[in-house]
Amino acid sequence: KEKNAAEPEFLQAVEEVLESIRPVVEANEEKYRKEAILERITNPDRQLIFRVPWVDDNGQVQVNTGYRVQFNNAIGPYKGGLRLHPSVYLGIIKFLGFEQIFKNSLTGLPIGGGKGGADFDPKGKSDREVMAFCQSFMTELCKYIGADVDVPAGDIGTGAREIGYMFGQYKRIKGMYEGVLTGKGLTYGGSLARTEATGYGLLYIVEELMKCKGQEMAGKTVAVSGAGNVAIYAIQKAQQLGAKAVTCSDSTGWIYDPEGIDVALLKEIKEVKRARLTEYADARPSAEYHEGRGVWSVKCDIALPCATQNELLLDDAKALAANGCIAVAEGANMPTTMDATKYLQDQGIWFIPGKASNAGGVATSALEMSQNSERLSWTFEEVDAKLNQIMVNIYHNIDDAAKRYGKENDYVAGANIAGFEKVVEAMIAQGVC
Ligand code: NDP
Repeated sequence: KEKNAAEPEFLQAVEEVLESIRPVVEANEEKYRKEAILERITNPDRQLIFRVPWVDDNGQVQVNTGYRVQFNNAIGPYKGGLRLHPSVYLGIIKFLGFEQIFKNSLTGLPIGGGKGGADFDPKGKSDREVMAFCQSFMTELCKYIGADVDVPAGDIGTGAREIGYMFGQYKRIKGMYEGVLTGKGLTYGGSLARTEATGYGLLYIVEELMKCKGQEMAGKTVAVSGAGNVAIYAIQKAQQLGAKAVTCSDSTGWIYDPEGIDVALLKEIKEVKRARLTEYADARPSAEYHEGRGVWSVKCDIALPCATQNELLLDDAKALAANGCIAVAEGANMPTTMDATKYLQDQGIWFIPGKASNAGGVATSALEMSQNSERLSWTFEEVDAKLNQIMVNIYHNIDDAAKRYGKENDYVAGANIAGFEKVVEAMIAQGVC
């Protein structure tokens, strides 16, 4: 704790995992102590921090800090996104990389855990500036990654445009055409359904939860936060399954649209124009725009936080419970604070943590890696069907793990235990490394 005191998000993520795997650790205490499993799994294999100089449109040199934390490769090459956001520092990347180990394990696919990014804000930058940054970032990062070593992907602030610029620079420096990044464009090795995967996967696991609890998705009211990649496709799939998604948000405000969010309009504003949500309200008479935060004050059956970490707080959890919410599933990484999670679980609200419910994105990235290795492209339907099956399997995997340790309905424990067991077995089999 003292060593990482300046990294509260990392401590929060580790604390949550360690707390919920306690029964597994107690059952294997001697072996894990001798093997120093907890010390090894909470210390990254390596942490890279580097300078990213680039020239802005005024000819001024700007300097950002780049990161790549390669956390654990016991079950496969490091895999995890690159976050470009001013809030990025080592603690955020470590928290995300640590979570990624267990998430990737849960997918059932051979991928280890890593994460990276920079404190660069693509918002308001010209395409040329974004390209200059991405090229400089990759000039350093390319020394440490590779299709069988470490395969980064998108995350907040890193979409198809940024991945394209980074891929181009990797190829140019290395002289090699390989699947070193996922989330690529469809004309150069990207996978169909990757764009939709995290949001769709979130709904597939919620659909399975509902089915197993004797509930239907059709007719449910869904509150969603965020208006980015995850949120947009979560809203789209929710509507396809017959539910009504009535909210979305960005970092300045939120929309309540009781008639259901118009996905085409939202996509136009966020994906094409890269504009603010005020434009949504201007174009849609049924919608209300509110400054600040407030998505969780709306009456809903299912809440899907899809924006960022620590965005669903204890008071929000209380409001959701008071309004009759029955399930919360995280689309973002760690959007729910620990006290809010505990409150929701104590109220009997089914709570699926991000490492299980948003694993569809990285799972489909791993499917992109498979397609790149095969030099083949699968159809949308093939990828989507595999994604659906992976999410259904994750639900049953975490449900079974929770039950095995007498923690029925505790999907936080179930996800951490199931993800942890597999990685630890591989670590022990591979000796001290
Ligand atoms: P995007 O950058 O596409 O979208 C993020 C959205 O969240 C934007 O609408 C952004 O608004 C909003 N947001 C950011 N910060 C805040 C805040 N403090 N309060 C309210 N809204 C905020 O990112 P993604 O959709 O890709 O990622 C969202 C989350 O999902 C992240 O936690 C990410 O790590 C996680 N995730 C993403 C995956 C993927 O495949 N994309 C896979 C697994 C997890 P604004 O535009 O104003 O910044």
